Amino acid sequence: MKDKGRMKGVILPGNSTVEFKDFDISTPRYGEVLIKIKSSTICGSDIRAIYHEHLGKGPEGYQGVIAGHEPCGKIVECGPGLRRFKEGDRVIIYHISGCGVCNDCRRGYMISCTSDEYRKAYGWQRDGGMAEYIIAEEKDLVLLPDELTYSDGAQIACGFGTVYEGLEKIGISGNDTVLVTGLGPVGLAALMLSKAMGASKTIGIDIIDERLKIAKEMGLADHVLKAGLDNVQDILDMTGGMGCEKTIDCSANEDARFTCIKAARRWGKICFIGEGGDCSFQPSPDIIHDQKTIYGSWVTNIWRMEELVEKIVRWGIHPEKLITHRFPLGRADEAYALMASGKCGKVAIVFDEEMK
Ligand SMILES: [Zn+2]
Ligand SMILES: [Zn+2]
Repeated sequence: MKDKGRMKGVILPGNSTVEFKDFDISTPRYGEVLIKIKSSTICGSDIRAIYHEHLGKGPEGYQGVIAGHEPCGKIVECGPGLRRFKEGDRVIIYHISGCGVCNDCRRGYMISCTSDEYRKAYGWQRDGGMAEYIIAEEKDLVLLPDELTYSDGAQIACGFGTVYEGLEKIGISGNDTVLVTGLGPVGLAALMLSKAMGASKTIGIDIIDERLKIAKEMGLADHVLKAGLDNVQDILDMTGGMGCEKTIDCSANEDARFTCIKAARRWGKICFIGEGGDCSFQPSPDIIHDQKTIYGSWVTNIWRMEELVEKIVRWGIHPEKLITHRFPLGRADEAYALMASGKCGKVAIVFDEEMK
């Protein structure tokens, strides 16, 4: 085993700070690759469940490993036994490594792998993308097409994949007016993909002015509304009194979820993507009598991520456009603090050609 030296990696102690530590650069074992990280974006769940405090216990909790579950980079070394990928390939890492043989893994949903022993999320239970290199398993890789940048790829690893899954569950087409509540990076991605999938009108709601501004200025939302008591009435006014065919909550806020339910029209479909929090409604008047359906959606499967990559190229869109701030690894503390403030779009840690 040749000595590759040491690298810096980011640890999140759980008190809203960032710690830098030195790690050995490992050699890939059977079925594994060593990837040089090019772009590694910060996900809202890193802030919610790791940065501020460590939520989740046991196998679900953060285990003090290198953080970051949206990694994208280039394969620089292959372990033995690889079947498809090779040195030099540009790759996205599906951010959870599953056992591969439980029912959920066989469906491609390693996110819900039922093996306590083998389910390990990158950046939670095994080393993630906030370092110069990462070891990943070949079965967790999605090939990044030449048309997309590494920062496009990092966004797809969690955020865009998660959003696409939710949109596919409720189905988006040119027939739809789409409402998105919560315009953090996930909500902005929901608007961007809804437009790409043909939505004829998009409406965004958030409490933070900076986010409303980004959604409007980037042309992702046709209309933006500051979160408030009049939201449902405003949406009815915008839609001829009918409401939206499809509504998507990315905020996890109780009021926003209720807005999604009330602002959906009869026969409408509602998708909950934002994690945590609460929701209360009256089943008969709010859902049953208006024939509405609520879907929950958690991350995505790896075949859908692979197809999303192909479609993003066809649609000619670039997820990296949602990145408003790029930082080198050495300034990860500023990057996490900014992301925690919410006064930004997506925040990325970048290397080499992605430093722009
Ligand atoms: Zn995530
Ligand atoms: Zn499994």
